[in-house]
Amino acid sequence: MTKVAVIGAGPVGTSQALALLRAGFDVTLFEREPALPADPRAATIQPPTLAMLAELGSGARILARGLKAPVFQFRDRGSDEIIAEYDYGLLEGETPYPFALQCEQFKVALSNVETIEETAPGTVRLGTEVTGFTQDADGVTLKTIGPDGVETHRVAYLVGCDGGRSPTRKALGIAFEGFTYEERFLVLTTPHDFLGRGFRIRNYVLDPKQWCALFKVPHDGPPGLWRTVFPAAEGADTLSDDYIRTQIQGLEPDLTLYDIQHRNLYAVNQRVAASFHAGRVFLAGDSAHVNNPLGGLGMNSGIHDAINLAGKLAAARDRPGEAETLFAAYTTERRGIARNYVQAQTIQNKKRLEARTPEARAAAMDELRATAEDPARHRAWVMNASLIKGLRELDSATKG
Ligand SMILES: Cc1cc2nc3c(=O)[nH]c(=O)nc-3n(C[C@H](O)[C@H](O)[C@H](O)COP(=O)(O)OP(=O)(O)OC[C@H]3O[C@@H](n4cnc5c(N)ncnc54)[C@H](O)[C@@H]3O)c2cc1C
Repeated sequence: MTKVAVIGAGPVGTSQALALLRAGFDVTLFEREPALPADPRAATIQPPTLAMLAELGSGARILARGLKAPVFQFRDRGSDEIIAEYDYGLLEGETPYPFALQCEQFKVALSNVETIEETAPGTVRLGTEVTGFTQDADGVTLKTIGPDGVETHRVAYLVGCDGGRSPTRKALGIAFEGFTYEERFLVLTTPHDFLGRGFRIRNYVLDPKQWCALFKVPHDGPPGLWRTVFPAAEGADTLSDDYIRTQIQGLEPDLTLYDIQHRNLYAVNQRVAASFHAGRVFLAGDSAHVNNPLGGLGMNSGIHDAINLAGKLAAARDRPGEAETLFAAYTTERRGIARNYVQAQTIQNKKRLEARTPEARAAAMDELRATAEDPARHRAWVMNASLIKGLRELDSATKG
């Protein structure tokens, strides 16, 4: 059996390992942390990703751990007016999953690992860090350090799903092209329930300085928790009580500092790797592209990379003469989606939320309202936001 090593047991690495196992590879997944990382990051799973995870066999577990969120809302913070609501229910007939699923990325990774362990026990090596690799024409040799000490492994292919700071990408010397936003994002977690005032499970609130994304996550089961993502102004002490009080004041009449359980700050980048592979070593997920979290696309598009790459590696194993072409196609196809859909949409999503002048804000709100009110435009909008459109266009381009 052809051996493949995957680095990183995040949502992408675990999907990658599972997809490769399903394709008949001998897979080892290395994760440097002793347990699956559970920090509060991605929580929205888009319909095509649910279909892919169902095909891999972890979908039912993930569905059982998530909250269905067919509708999402745009609201104006100043007037508290609901500007528009968009309905993934319009995707009925296009996908078996006409909703987004709110499910923490940690549970996606966990569900994948549970499915991997049923399929091939011992594949996941926690607490084991990949410390370096070299490659030649026939394979890749990597070194790891973990509970069994220093080890050397020889595989046919290596996939770095090792996150935005990817040691794999750096070792390959691949440029990470793009920019870093000046402000960081402040993520607050609260048990305060927002459904009472007409919010939905997913919400985007427009404001020039205090815009926010507001969404519910299942946590340990009902009643769940809410996460809010605010801009963290440059130069301010953005984890301080004072800053947090200013951000939450007025969003909900009775939301206070005492309701905030966790506060986290994230640097936000918009970057895409210049190539998604070099020889026999590949990048997938955040190691290949990072973006702001507005729209819920980063983890999703990373999982789509993993599925695409598993298909290419299986085809290269079966038709070795085509390997170079297949690997180049992986970069072209997935880099194209990262640039043209994920980067474009997330940059646009942030601009819309923070529209600075009254004219720009009015234009953003008019556009949101007009699109939601026109059934054809509304449907086209959710096809795009759910990543279905991008995947279909890629599919027809590669078949055509
Ligand atoms: C606040 C916030 C909200 C977000 N919301 C969404 C959302 O709703 N929807 C969405 O699609 N995306 C969202 N994202 C983006 C999403 O979190 C990332 O795209 C996702 O985590 C990428 O997964 P990954 O598996 O590629 O990388 P990671 O989750 O970063 O996993 C990388 C793993 O590699 C391991 N690793 C690194 N180096 C080594 C090594 N040398 N050896 C062994 N292991 C190693 C790390 O320990 C880690 O476990 C959000 C991000 C943030 C910050």
